[in-house]
Amino acid sequence: MTSPLVPRMVEHSTSIFAEMSTLAVQVGAINLGQGFPDTDGPQELKDIAIAAIQDGRGNQYPPPHGLPMLREAISAHQERFYGLQVDAGAGVVVGTGASEVLQSTLLALIDEGDEVVMFEPWFDIYSAGISLARGVRVGVPLSGPDLRPDLDRLRAAITPRTKVLLINSPHNPTGIVFTRHELDGIAAIAIEHDLIVISDEAYEHLWFADHHHVPIATLPGMFERTITIGSGGKSFSFTGWKVGWASGPTDLIAAVRVVRQHLSYVSGGPFQYAMAAGLGLPDQYFAQFRADLSAKRDLLAGGLAELGFGVLMSEGTYFLTTDVRPLGYADGLEFCRDIPHRAGVVAIPHQALCDDPEIGAPYVRWAFCKRPSVLEEALERLARGLA
Ligand code: GLN
Repeated sequence: MTSPLVPRMVEHSTSIFAEMSTLAVQVGAINLGQGFPDTDGPQELKDIAIAAIQDGRGNQYPPPHGLPMLREAISAHQERFYGLQVDAGAGVVVGTGASEVLQSTLLALIDEGDEVVMFEPWFDIYSAGISLARGVRVGVPLSGPDLRPDLDRLRAAITPRTKVLLINSPHNPTGIVFTRHELDGIAAIAIEHDLIVISDEAYEHLWFADHHHVPIATLPGMFERTITIGSGGKSFSFTGWKVGWASGPTDLIAAVRVVRQHLSYVSGGPFQYAMAAGLGLPDQYFAQFRADLSAKRDLLAGGLAELGFGVLMSEGTYFLTTDVRPLGYADGLEFCRDIPHRAGVVAIPHQALCDDPEIGAPYVRWAFCKRPSVLEEALERLARGLA
């Protein structure tokens, strides 16, 4: 029997993350592919979730758009960190991870043939979500050796069919953080062409040194056209809890709510209590989180550079990018399929996150959100395997 899968989803049949994680298990490799921390988030958040289960809070369906307490906490967080005023009643929606909220947003906004412009490489669920919505994805390559947004190319990609600009900063997979200047340029294009911006800010608290994260919604004229997406999994190191949210103007959030309520309806009741507390943790938590991750970044980046990789220093996220050409590989996909067998380490090729394989060919993404001993072991294995 031929596959019953709708044709537009055939190209999304496999996920590079699943492929590489499966390979890691098969060959016993250290998995620096899929981005999840190997240590859990704060014990006090676990205690809150456990207490909620014990006390019977959230064990039955929570309210469809999120616990009021969590919506209040999201609104307070946007005000505290960014000075944004978000209506906790109607300007926030909670979902099953940032992923569901993002897909709901695309399904709510994109109709057949509408174009979504985004920088390439992109995170894989963006392209799958656009296909689900019968939209058209338009990639704009990140440019130059530092893989930065090129505003002229972005402007040139806009057509009368463009409805949404989908941005992601801190950026997966490159690890770049858009500068204020770059965001100003993106905002000007969005305003000029009256576009809606979906801003995936899952890694909003994971930026290093002076690469502060600036939400595009804070720029003049942008709040009213921007849906900002946040991730409790990423901000509090509980990726399995799958609590994410979007915030923005009430008309845009209302549209997202319509679709989202028909997907998972609700989820993660007890975890929502814990996430509400997480968003109110003191500044010290967020500073320490960044400091820990930044040390791990330095460990992996330094080790990979010593091994001869061209390292693009990560400014944020869980990830850093390397150029594999100095190691004698022209192609990151070939490198990522070879290196688990040769060295017992798994990474993710940018190519799998691009329409145009040329754009991502030299680059490989490494996750450094792992214990230092794991990163050290991975570096030792690479040193032996590449020798
Ligand atoms: N966001 C994570 C990453 O980029 C997990 C991706 C996934 O497994 N779908 O690695």
